Amino acid sequence: MNIVIFGPPGAGKGTQSNLIVKKFQLHQLSTGELLRNEIINKTKLGQEISSVINSGNLVSDKVVGDLIEKYISNDIFKNRLIFDGYPRNLTQAKNLDFLLNKYNQKIDLVLKLSVNLITIKKRISERKTLEKRQDDKDDIAIKRFETYEKNIKPVIDFYKKSNLLKVVNGEMSITEISDEISGLIERIKG
Ligand code: AMP
Repeated sequence: MNIVIFGPPGAGKGTQSNLIVKKFQLHQLSTGELLRNEIINKTKLGQEISSVINSGNLVSDKVVGDLIEKYISNDIFKNRLIFDGYPRNLTQAKNLDFLLNKYNQKIDLVLKLSVNLITIKKRISERKTLEKRQDDKDDIAIKRFETYEKNIKPVIDFYKKSNLLKVVNGEMSITEISDEISGLIERIKG
C-alpha cells in the first residue's frame, strides 16, 4: 500500500506519518526532510536549494522528482511508501502517477489534513522552540502557507477525480486523527 498525505505547513503530516509508519510497517518519505538533510550535510544540492527553502518557496519539480524516484525504484520500499509533502502541485501529482506506474505500483489512499490558519500559526510557533527550523520563522511560515494554498487546489481536484481522496479533520487531537487514519487504512486493506 502506498499513501499520500498532505496538508498545510503545521497540519501534522509529519507526526501522523510517523505514527502510521510504525503501525503499518510503511516507510515515510518526507521530501522536506530529505531536502533539509541535503542542507545540513552541506551537499552541492543542499547549497543550491537552501535559499529557496528558507524563503518558503518550492524547490524545482525535477529535483524532488529525482529524489523520490530513488525510493520508488528501490524494491525494499515497494508498496510501502507514505509520501509526506509530495506532491505539492499538479505537475508533481502527475509525475508521482508516472513514476509509480513505471515501477508497477499505484497510490491506494490520499489523505488531506484540513486545518485552519489560526491553528497552523499556533502549531508552528510551538514547533519553533522545539525544532528550530529556519523556515518556521513567522514571515516564512506565512509564505509557506500561501505557497501551499496557491498550488494545492488542482492537486485536490486531481485526487477527487480518481476517488482516492479522504479529508481528515486536522483540528482533532493527535490520537483522534491517528485513529481515524488507521480506520481508513484498515478499510482499504480489507
Ligand atoms: P515540509 O517539511 O514538507 O514543510 O517542506 C519544507 C520545504 O521543503 C518546503 O517549504 C519546500 O521549500 C521544500 N519542499 C518539500 N517538499 C517539496 C516538494 N514536494 N516540492 C517542492 N519543494 C518541496
